[in-house]
Amino acid sequence: MELWDIPAIDQHAHNLLRPEAIANYAYTAAFTEAHNADIINHHTCHTLFYRRSLRDMANLLKCEPQESEILAKRNNLGLENLTKTCFDAANLEAILLDDGFLPDKILPWQWHQKFVKVRRLLRIEDLAQNLIPQANSFEEFWERFKAEIDPPPPEVVAFKSIAAYRTGLEIKSVTVEVAKSQFNAIKKTTGEKPPRLINKSLIDFLVIQTLEIAAKHKIPIQFHTGFGDPDLDLRLSNPLHLRQILEDERFRNAPIVLLHASYPYTSEAGYLASIYPNVYVSFGLVIPSLSIVGMREVVRRLIEFAPSSKLMYSSDAHLIPDLYYLGGKWGRKVLGKVLNESVRDGDLTVKEAEEIAVAILRGNASQLYQLDI
Ligand SMILES: [Zn+2]
Repeated sequence: MELWDIPAIDQHAHNLLRPEAIANYAYTAAFTEAHNADIINHHTCHTLFYRRSLRDMANLLKCEPQESEILAKRNNLGLENLTKTCFDAANLEAILLDDGFLPDKILPWQWHQKFVKVRRLLRIEDLAQNLIPQANSFEEFWERFKAEIDPPPPEVVAFKSIAAYRTGLEIKSVTVEVAKSQFNAIKKTTGEKPPRLINKSLIDFLVIQTLEIAAKHKIPIQFHTGFGDPDLDLRLSNPLHLRQILEDERFRNAPIVLLHASYPYTSEAGYLASIYPNVYVSFGLVIPSLSIVGMREVVRRLIEFAPSSKLMYSSDAHLIPDLYYLGGKWGRKVLGKVLNESVRDGDLTVKEAEEIAVAILRGNASQLYQLDI
């Protein structure tokens, strides 16, 4: 099944780096979650993802599949032309950008609108961090936090939480008194610069506040789940830890999107999506960063149990435009292959498989985020 004609909504990705920031990154840095120089400079070139991607980029840019050739071609094009080439080749209808990743180094979300329709994902931990130095009391902090998200600015279509990165997904209710005392303790050691928020009680409190507001407006909240960079304790990013939130009737109207297929907890993510009406799963980062067999296995694992109405495409592209293209290419190839198998097995008719492909690539996201595009 060829899915190239279906424009995709990339419902979780990140802003591209500014040209002066790109100069400080090796090309391989975009192909690993590691920050370690040894991994970036000596090991990433031995991953299947990197090897395959060199050939993909060489095909796209019409050059030899060597990093030096690809870099020369990219340099000649310049960032704008390269972005246009990659975005066009990815056949994107819209992208949803989380601009909380490397906020000092990225281009603003508006810049990307030259190439494709853009909506924003608001990262709540970043919002909170930025408000801490500005607020003189917990009450002021809490009021301002709520004012920023209830309702959020018009370009924001969802919230994003990186609780998994900071303190884990076992998010519990926290009283106002506890949140206040934790805020006061952080405030004592904070100067004019926003602190790095790593306080579990305060993060949990803010996530719960956000869920209440998300439920009120039916705004989705994306959770980082599963693998990521070394900031993360993988044990705490298992989405099963979200049980208290998922069981809480107050949040039933808040769609919860588990990012990255919760890999390697993919069966767990599929299970949660099949049980809870407000749980959705997207498979960006798994696609395009695993081997072809690995990507296929993950999409199979999700679709084997979870309703297809709960699954969504994304790339989790970040740093460079190449990843948008690689995500778009392999998202369609892998999904097409898995759906073909389902037709061959007798799980689906051809027509059903085609409808599911459209739903996963764009329809489900368009509906969930109420994208007026
Ligand atoms: Zn991401």
